[in-house]
Amino acid sequence: MKRKQGVERALITGGAGFIGSHLAERLLEDGYEVTIIDDLSTGSMQNIEHLRVHHRFSFAIETILNLTVMDRLISECDIVFHFAAAVGVRLIVENPVGTIETNVLGTEIVLKIANRYRKKVILPSTSEIYGKGNSIPFSEESDRVLGSMTKSRWSYSSSKAVDEFLTLAYHSMYKLPVVIIRLFNTIGPRQTGSYGMVVPRFIKQALRGEPITVYADGKQSRCFADVKDVVDAIVKLANCPEANGQIFNVGKDEEITIENLARKIKHKIESSSEICYISYEKAYVLGFEDMRRRVPDLTKIRKFIDYKPQISLDQSLMDIIKDMRKNMANGRDKK
Ligand code: UDP
Repeated sequence: MKRKQGVERALITGGAGFIGSHLAERLLEDGYEVTIIDDLSTGSMQNIEHLRVHHRFSFAIETILNLTVMDRLISECDIVFHFAAAVGVRLIVENPVGTIETNVLGTEIVLKIANRYRKKVILPSTSEIYGKGNSIPFSEESDRVLGSMTKSRWSYSSSKAVDEFLTLAYHSMYKLPVVIIRLFNTIGPRQTGSYGMVVPRFIKQALRGEPITVYADGKQSRCFADVKDVVDAIVKLANCPEANGQIFNVGKDEEITIENLARKIKHKIESSSEICYISYEKAYVLGFEDMRRRVPDLTKIRKFIDYKPQISLDQSLMDIIKDMRKNMANGRDKK
């Protein structure tokens, strides 16, 4: 999707993270000027190394809580993709203060400054919003069902819900152009397993011949979408005027159980790893709550854009395995 006139300037907060760095790559390909801001708390320079030579790319290693820097960067862009957020179930359980503060304060700052300069904001949100509800598939209008306040996992869902409410409020009160995108499980090269994400964890375990750690009975399921398909949807929604003020599910609706995912990865790698089952209590904390199924209803997005994910789970896994093998060979698989 090339710009028709002039060069559009995109600011990606959290642009050195997994999805942010893929988005930066795609926007550069499409002819945008791309600036990222990232404090490298969960992102890494390695993710953007290949972009640094690009003449339309620039970056600031800085927190989004720095008002002076954010004021300048937002004033100089046309659209903000606000990806800076605390994500990953392990990170959320281990650092609840950081999760809530980064997600709520960061979004408040982005929206306030974007409104000052009248810049469009794309807010990535999450399927965690739906909580543990079982009205599968989840449509954008589905109710949210959360556990009690003592289960810290739900702080993430709640923090992103505040982000969504605030974003919608800026749209309804000030007519700020916004699009909210609820991302379901997204996978691809450069995702780290350090914050709990299952696919990079299983692949790394299988490549190292270590036990593949399936939590609980492994009968819980997820739908995994490739980051390239997800980024394509985000760019299309950002360029769709009718999407303004709307919320969209983005992901894939093909389910796989975690147990079958482990088997598939073991098979693809021809790994000697054994598959072992670990209770949630041992993996996380006592009383940890997981959701059994999480499937997006994609009816709405298909009404707004041409949305046809192209990349199969098998292809995604092969791409990630290849990338991780390369990093392991170079000793660059630490984070
Ligand atoms: N999971 C697992 N082993 C791991 C990491 C995760 O069995 O080493 C499970 C986890 O309990 C969940 C699923 O895989 O049921 C997806 O977990 P992830 O943290 O990737 O995403 P989310 O729970 O946010 O969908």
